[in-house]
Amino acid sequence: MTEGRSPQRLKFPEGFLWSAATAAHQIEGGNDNCDWWDFEAEPGRIKRGERSGRACDHWNRVAEDVALVQALHLNHYRFSVEWARIEPSPGVFDEAALAHYRRELILLRDAGIVPLVTLHHFTLPKWVATVGGWGGGDISERFALYCEKTYEALGDLARDWITINEPMVLVVAGYLSADFPPALREPAGIVAPLRGLVKGHVAAYHVMHSVARRLGRTLRVGLAHHLRCFDPARSWHPLDQVSAMLLGKAFNWVIPDALLTGKLSLRLPFVVKLKEEIARAKGTEDFFGLNYYSRDLIKFAPLQPLRFLRVEPPGMWRSDLGWEIYPRGIYRLLKEIAARYPATPILITENGLADAADTSRERFIREHLQYVHRAIGEGVKVEAYSHWSLLDNFEWAEGFEPRFGLCAVDYGSMQRTVRGSARAYARMAAENAVEP
Ligand code: BGC
Repeated sequence: MTEGRSPQRLKFPEGFLWSAATAAHQIEGGNDNCDWWDFEAEPGRIKRGERSGRACDHWNRVAEDVALVQALHLNHYRFSVEWARIEPSPGVFDEAALAHYRRELILLRDAGIVPLVTLHHFTLPKWVATVGGWGGGDISERFALYCEKTYEALGDLARDWITINEPMVLVVAGYLSADFPPALREPAGIVAPLRGLVKGHVAAYHVMHSVARRLGRTLRVGLAHHLRCFDPARSWHPLDQVSAMLLGKAFNWVIPDALLTGKLSLRLPFVVKLKEEIARAKGTEDFFGLNYYSRDLIKFAPLQPLRFLRVEPPGMWRSDLGWEIYPRGIYRLLKEIAARYPATPILITENGLADAADTSRERFIREHLQYVHRAIGEGVKVEAYSHWSLLDNFEWAEGFEPRFGLCAVDYGSMQRTVRGSARAYARMAAENAVEP
């Protein structure tokens, strides 16, 4: 989008939310009652044998980190609360943990920052993992009870809530690629966690809304969906085209479609065929949370278990993790969300890159926002842009090496340093505009 430069800055609608995102386990430190804590201790699970440990010590530095959000001129912040802390054992709710998050929400309110709270960002309490997690018996009512108690305690301070972060990533990484607990690799085994996550969201959605009605609160409940662009590796090849199309459908749209229509339907040729009604699922997304990172180029490969391969042509703009940087993808996905779910407002709940040298981040943000602006201009209802992440943090199976932060973290001293790209992002937020 650099051709046709005009000196006119691209103004965002008044009230647009400029944001950064984090997740509890990746920054808080000492989250030792969750399944990841034990998973990290298993040899070979995390790169270089790293463990989340103290992470960014955010648990003890909440005020400092809220001040950082404010210093960056952001008017919105997405963060998660930790189920393993709030409900350390079944049915036991920890008042001190709830008070901690309450204090964080008050700090945000006093700083004029609108919060978006995630209830479940990848980690489960150990006691939930022990009974089989999302793929075991039905834990939807357990999850809903945790959401109910947490929302009851904190919901006067936050209107917008995300039940589950990236349910499809939990399914793929937990049950197909074995990168996340429970680290299984069984294609046909994805149905149980998929169904479990949808039922968990639906149960939480209804129970939270009934609390809101009882207490006279305004509430919006959504999910953060990780969507990717899937394109044929050989654009002319019909089997690459079909593979990319089927994958995109399965990965991106199965869950949001189930929440729109009430029907969970998944077809992966030779692997899974599923079509079932999920009770009370229809119409359970008040907003669409979009996490967007990258694109996959797909080649039909009949000898592979899933009949496809991802290819990585040389010479593309990539992040430190090798992910293609493809800003146009955010526009394509926003347009497709708007076409599929025209009544649902969209919040961009994550978008970012690993860039330790901070050489790509400013351009990355600017170009993605140019495309967001374009989508808004074409009528797509985008309310917020949340950059992943506020801080460098514990990047799951990749450990601490990838640097996703607007602010760098020195894991020895725990000192935070605002990166140059973050200063540029702060200017965009302050001016409610990006350069064309
Ligand atoms: C997750 C984050 C993660 C980020 C970068 C998203 O899939 O929600 O927890 O750190 O991507 O990989």
